[in-house]
Amino acid sequence: LGSSLRGTLDKLQGKTTLSEDDVEEIVKEIQRSLLSADVDVSLVMDLSDSIRERALDEEPPAGTTARDHVLKIVYEEMVELVGDSTDLPLEEQTIVLAGLQGSGKTTTAAKMAWWFSKKGLRPAVIQTDTFRPGAYEQAREMCERAEVDFYGDPDNDDPVDIARTGLEATADADVHIVDTAGRHALEDVLIDELEQIESVVDPDRNLLVLDAAIGQGAKDQAERFHDAVGIDGVVITKLDGTAKGGGALAAVDQTGSSIAFLGTGEEVKDIERFEPSGFISRLLGMGDLKQLSERVERAMAETQAEEDWDPEDLMKGEFTLNDMRNQMNAMNRMGPLDQVLDMIPGLGGGIKDQLPDDAMDVTQDRLRSFEVIMDSMTEAELEHPRAVGQSQIERIARGSGKDEETVRELLEQHKMMSQMMKQFQGMGDGDMQRMMKQ
Ligand code: GDP
Ligand code: MG
Repeated sequence: LGSSLRGTLDKLQGKTTLSEDDVEEIVKEIQRSLLSADVDVSLVMDLSDSIRERALDEEPPAGTTARDHVLKIVYEEMVELVGDSTDLPLEEQTIVLAGLQGSGKTTTAAKMAWWFSKKGLRPAVIQTDTFRPGAYEQAREMCERAEVDFYGDPDNDDPVDIARTGLEATADADVHIVDTAGRHALEDVLIDELEQIESVVDPDRNLLVLDAAIGQGAKDQAERFHDAVGIDGVVITKLDGTAKGGGALAAVDQTGSSIAFLGTGEEVKDIERFEPSGFISRLLGMGDLKQLSERVERAMAETQAEEDWDPEDLMKGEFTLNDMRNQMNAMNRMGPLDQVLDMIPGLGGGIKDQLPDDAMDVTQDRLRSFEVIMDSMTEAELEHPRAVGQSQIERIARGSGKDEETVRELLEQHKMMSQMMKQFQGMGDGDMQRMMKQ
C-alpha cells in the first residue's frame, strides 16, 4: 500500500501545482492505508478533509515542488492525528497500568521498569493481579530479567492490600509501576478493582495498555477506563506482529491523551518510547516521510532567510555570489529579469540595451545548476568569486557533479550581474530598492 502512495506521489514529480484530482488520488491512497491499519473511519475522514483543504488552498512556498508540499501537509496532518508522545518526566512517579487481560500489561510493566532503569532511575514493579493464575510468577520472572525491584504476594488475594503494602515495601524505588489484573471483557468487577487500587495508589499517571490488533473496540474500552480512573496515555503492544496499531488512535482521541510507549516483542528490551514519525511511517508504510518533511522545512527556512535579505545591501559594497543567489531567487519569484527591469520607473530601455543579452538569460534550469554549484563552494569563494582559480573550478565541478564549463558560466554570470549592479548603484534613487522589496 505504501508503495502505491509513493507511486501516486511520484507521479507529481515536476508539477508545480496540484489539481483536485491529484489531491483526491493521494487522499484515497492514504485512506486505504489507514483503514487497513484499523484507524477509525471518522478519524480518517477528518484527516482527509484537512489534507484536501490545505493541499488545495495553500500555495507551495517558493522553491518547493507540489509533491514536497503535499508530503509536508500529509506529514503535519498525520502528526496531528497520532499526537505527540505522552509527557513522561524522568523523576519520581507512580504509574498504574490498566487494560484487558492479554493486552500486555504485565510484560509492559517489566519493560517500562527496564526502560526507566536505563534512564538512571530506580524502578519497582508491583504486581496486584490476583485473578490470573501464574500472574505473580510471570511478573517476578520478567522483573528478574529486567533487573528491577519487584513486589508481589501470591498468598494475598486482596489486590488493593497488595498495592498498599507494595508501595511501602518498595519505598526505596523512584518509579513505581503498578500492574493490575485484567478481565476478558469490560466487567464491573474489573473497573471496581481498578478504581480502588487507583484511590490507594494515587498515581501520577494511568496508562491504558492496548494490543495493536485492537479494532473498533478501542473506543468503548478507552471510554470505560477513562471514566473510571482517567487515562493519561496509551501503550500499544505487539507491534512486532502484522497489526499496525491504528485502532488505538481511537482510544487516544476518546481520552484526549497520547501514546506513551510501543511494545515490539516479548522480551524486556522490546519497548520503544512513542515517536510520531516512526509510527506514521508504519501506518502509511512509507519509510522516509519525516525526512522529506524536514527537507521541505529546510527549504522554507532558506526562503525565509532570503526574505530577510535586504536588497539595499546590493547598493553597497561588493556584489558577491551570495548576493547573486539571493537576487536570482528573488527575481525568480517576481518573473523574468527583463520584465522586472521594464517595471522599474524611469529605467526605460536605456540600461537594458547596454547589458549583454546573457544577463537576462537566467533560465530555471541554469538557476538550478548554479544553485547546485554554489552548494559546492566554500563561504570564502561565495564572498570573493573573482578569486576563484582553475584548481578551485575543478574541485567545485567534481563536488557538484557539474562540468567545469558550467562553473565558469556561473562565474561569468556573476561578473555580468556585478557590472549591472554597479550601474544601478550609480542611479542612486530608491526605485530599485522598492521594486526588489515587493
Ligand atoms: P496482560 O494479561 O495484560 O498482563 O498481558 P501479558 O503481559 O501477560 O501479555 C500477554 C501475552 O502477550 C504474553 O504472551 C506476552 O508475551 C505477549 N506480549 C506482550 N507484549 C508483547 C509484544 O509487544 N510483542 C509480542 N510479540 N508479544 C507480546
Ligand atoms: Mg498480567
